[in-house]
Amino acid sequence: MKDLYRLLPEEMESLVIELGQPRYRADQILYSLYYKFPEKISEIKQLPAKFRDALSDEGFTIGSTKEIQRIKSKDGETTKLLLNLRDETPIESVLMQYPSKKLFGHPRSTICVSTQVGCAMGCVFCATGQMGFERNMKAEEIVGQVIHFAKILLEKGQHITNIVFMGMGEPLANYSETIRAVKLLTHPRGFGIGQRNITISTIGIISGIDKLAEENLQIGLAISLHAPNDKLRNWLVPTAGSSSVKDLINAGKRFFLKTGRRVTFEYALIEGINDSPEIATDLASLLKDNGSHVNLIPLNPTTSDFSRPRRRNVLEFERILYNSGVNCTVRVEKGTEISAACGQLRTDVMGKSNNKRKKIKK
Ligand code: SAH
Ligand code: SF4
Repeated sequence: MKDLYRLLPEEMESLVIELGQPRYRADQILYSLYYKFPEKISEIKQLPAKFRDALSDEGFTIGSTKEIQRIKSKDGETTKLLLNLRDETPIESVLMQYPSKKLFGHPRSTICVSTQVGCAMGCVFCATGQMGFERNMKAEEIVGQVIHFAKILLEKGQHITNIVFMGMGEPLANYSETIRAVKLLTHPRGFGIGQRNITISTIGIISGIDKLAEENLQIGLAISLHAPNDKLRNWLVPTAGSSSVKDLINAGKRFFLKTGRRVTFEYALIEGINDSPEIATDLASLLKDNGSHVNLIPLNPTTSDFSRPRRRNVLEFERILYNSGVNCTVRVEKGTEISAACGQLRTDVMGKSNNKRKKIKK
């Protein structure tokens, strides 16, 4: 089966020409895919019936995702979906909405997409990391998550404003499919969202960051740092291996120099582990001169081993960074009660597919 959502506009043109059709058929298909969100080729009504049949005979399909669970937060601003991919693999995607400050303005609607089923990086505080790695997702499966939400929003007269690659999996460990998805989503004849409205979050695969800097894309990059020293980081991110905290910061600098886009460092704050004032001071001295931004994420607890710090400790951590001149924000906590951290919902529903968790000593 070949999914029409996989094809970039140039590839769609080659396909229609190969099948003996005029070039403009490609635009008819693309318009339908990205504005009407059909679930079957037979729903692309602009095309002649014979051509629709020819596409199906060639093995083309539209691999739409099937919703198996939808959970909304109490305030209605976070919606988490458990979606089945074509092979019945369940994955997660989240919509976070931020009301507009204008009277009748549209909300900011950010979709958080998954790029892998599970993750091989094994971060000890992350529900996806604790499931282990199942498989990489195809570009069309990443795009399919966006389309699924776009369709839901269209019914309310709303649209997607931002896409973050912060769901299940490590995007840079699935590099080529992630880049293809970015191209499909940002192409003016594809989904057409601005490159600047996309952010890729990585645990810090340095070769991937350097490669991404060369792509000539204006997308944002977030590097998940979580610790100011290698000992603590290697414990939180057991697969960090040879890439040190310094290497990551340097990779962020190179990315900024090449693309002009400032890097955000993400920092999951975990009570009693990486949230002390001393650690905040170390982090501040590490980052104070490089103009980067720190996003503090109070932990979404996934197991009883780790907790979220008290609010006042989070604010104290933020204050230390701020007073040292480090640009810093605390992520608005969204969807905690609906297990909105990546991998949590699938774990709630399926249990851990690969229960290899070790007991962790503090
Ligand atoms: N693999 C990538 C992208 C997916 S995770 C990465 O690690 O960056 C996206 C973000 O969610 C990361 O910053 C990660 O540290 C954070 N995260 C994972 N589990 C979390 C949890 N339980 N609570 C808060 N943030 C979490
Ligand atoms: Fe993978 Fe990111 Fe979770 Fe780490 S935090 S296990 S890299 S998804």
